[in-house]
Amino acid sequence: MQFREIIGHDDTKQALLRAVQTNHVAHAQLFDGPPGSANLALALAFATYLNCEDRQETDSCGRCASCVKMNKLAHPDLTIVFPVAGSKMTSEHFMPAWRRFVLDHPYRTLDDWLAEAALKQGNIPVEEARELLGRLSLKAYEGEYKLVLIWCVENLHTATANALLKVLEEPPARTLFLLVTNRSEKLLITILSRTQRVAVRAFTDEEVQMHLRQHLNLDEKRARQVAYLADGNLSEAIRIAGEEPDGDFNRHAWFADWMRLCYKQDLIALVRQADQFDTLGKEKQRVLLDYSLSFCRDLFLYKHGVDELLRLPSEERTFVENFGKVLEPAHLESMVGELNEASFHIERNARAKMVMMDLSLTFSRLIRNGK
Ligand SMILES: [Zn+2]
Repeated sequence: MQFREIIGHDDTKQALLRAVQTNHVAHAQLFDGPPGSANLALALAFATYLNCEDRQETDSCGRCASCVKMNKLAHPDLTIVFPVAGSKMTSEHFMPAWRRFVLDHPYRTLDDWLAEAALKQGNIPVEEARELLGRLSLKAYEGEYKLVLIWCVENLHTATANALLKVLEEPPARTLFLLVTNRSEKLLITILSRTQRVAVRAFTDEEVQMHLRQHLNLDEKRARQVAYLADGNLSEAIRIAGEEPDGDFNRHAWFADWMRLCYKQDLIALVRQADQFDTLGKEKQRVLLDYSLSFCRDLFLYKHGVDELLRLPSEERTFVENFGKVLEPAHLESMVGELNEASFHIERNARAKMVMMDLSLTFSRLIRNGK
């Protein structure tokens, strides 16, 4: 991975480059960013730069022996640790699969990895720390630095975290730790306090669009739609882009239709709609509820007059303008709460038809009677 492959984030790249060029590299850094952000990609590009034999001003050379090995995630000085299953298995066992997974594209999430590797739950067992300490005690290395990259460091088992803390306190010479997290609030405060944080923001809609157009050849309109739905999460964007364009349903049409039925309090049609929702797979149900949620949030912004923040594609704005008239901000707040709760129940296998009918009745009441 090289810096030039990552869209945007110029300030972060600059800060990382400057640290190496001025010899001020912290021995433990935490690449902290939301799911689907560039946190792992930046950590990998940084690792490549650190051991590059012909560093350029703004990036690694991409050609030297070190860069070639780094680009295959197969550099002997780079140890990668990530969540796996069970207590006896370590990252080493899963390395070929993880390499493929990340080389495919480095913006994917822990959920993507668990699905790919068919793991129910991922953690970083204490066995991993033992192996790591063994490796770090070996003197020989090829490059300038020994690097330890821990992906999803929030999934460290407590015993593993404690073992890691010891190394962070007294790091071996020329050894750098690159920790990558989506959920720094779950990290032990003692780990946080021993690392330098590299804050990685979510991608902007424009950056997501650019990535989709450059890497997946999406046309402008489709890239805009997908970027809106993905909300800064590039992993999500790539997943949505892989679906049929608008699939067998159009999310916006579905939502607009649903809201019209609620407004009319057409109970017979709403029952039919709940039946139809029930037949969709859980994945599609989730997609529709997510869409409804982001739409309600946008309506909320619109009602508060922050029009310029509206991320909606223009063809959906008319609906916002009309539908916005019948709703108060307080109603939208309740709707967002109800939708969140519905997602929660559906994830936990509640009957989708009941959840949908419940939502429809509540929304009808809110829209028509304001309570
Ligand atoms: Zn190089």
